[in-house]
Amino acid sequence: MAASGTGVSWKARLRCALLRGTPQGLQGAGRCASVDAAKSGHSRPGADNPIHSHSPGNSSVSFARVCAMQISFRGKKVVVTGASRGIGWSIALAFATEGADVAICARGAQGLEAAEVELRRHGGAVFAMPCDLAEASAPASFVAGAVKALDGIDILVNNASGIGMRDDESGWRAGIDVDLMATVRATQTAIPFMEKAGGGVIINISSISGFRAVPRTLPYAAVKAALINYTMGQGLALAPKRIRVNAIAPGSIEFPGGVWDNRKASDPQLYQRTLDGIPWGRFGTPEEIARVALFLASEMGSWVTGQTIVVDGGQLLASRTGPSATLPAS
Ligand code: NAP
Repeated sequence: MAASGTGVSWKARLRCALLRGTPQGLQGAGRCASVDAAKSGHSRPGADNPIHSHSPGNSSVSFARVCAMQISFRGKKVVVTGASRGIGWSIALAFATEGADVAICARGAQGLEAAEVELRRHGGAVFAMPCDLAEASAPASFVAGAVKALDGIDILVNNASGIGMRDDESGWRAGIDVDLMATVRATQTAIPFMEKAGGGVIINISSISGFRAVPRTLPYAAVKAALINYTMGQGLALAPKRIRVNAIAPGSIEFPGGVWDNRKASDPQLYQRTLDGIPWGRFGTPEEIARVALFLASEMGSWVTGQTIVVDGGQLLASRTGPSATLPAS
């Protein structure tokens, strides 16, 4: 798989993980492969797709079929904001690798162009638009342009962040304009197209900062918390339209040129303290977020809506538990 460099596709890995250790696993995996090869598409994300494996007699075949069908994104139209590097890029690449047509945006034209070239190698249609999502009209222009270029939208991933760190006018402006309002505006633009098509999936990228007090980055934490609430509300509001809305709250993610890679040099103490606070003993990778996005967008997540999935190696739990975690049980 290109995204993680292992040479194994997302679909195959997720399917293996699901089937591994079950008596019917190997047999089922074989069936998965043939079903998948024969299949050119699958039901819309968000559409009802009952799994006929309720009784012991028919569980292995139908579950294997369901796995194969529901992780495919062939022909799906996926729009990802802020996707020239990091988490957004990994998400766009994961979908493209699984056969989706993908639209991406970023401010920097050079990074965007490199991302576009790479995505095109996977064979699907690609739309790339340089824009600054902080500008009020940009999210709608990007999503509308993507819908036109890809001929629809099945999945919207609101990933870009203004990374508003400082408790001053510019910090709050960046957080509100990009994390929050660009998400709202892109979502508002996407909804009528998804509704007309019979359903869709929206994924908002929040942060574990949205679940806890972070005095060092007040605007960032506050807008990420707002996204979690917005996700709950929209999950309910859009259920009748068969549009599922979920969020991912990543913990600290490290990749070359990313925020934690930079902090390793600029603030090694903070970097080390953060690392020490992750029970899993390492930073996360963008691919680990992308895999959860694939799950949420697939039919595997067909009844998940309004939720925020924390993906952090235990970082949030550890930060809430604090020193008492080491005390003897009382
Ligand atoms: P990143 O390295 O800063 O990349 C963000 C992407 O968005 C880039 O492609 C960037 O390209 C684009 N972008 C930024 N501002 C934009 C704007 N105003 N208009 C259009 N595009 C814009 O971010 P990341 O670390 O991958 O994080 C992605 C998401 O995950 C964010 O929502 C972030 O808050 C969240 N998250 C990250 C971490 C972490 O540890 N990295 C942890 C928790 C949550 P240009 O700069 O060229 O515009």
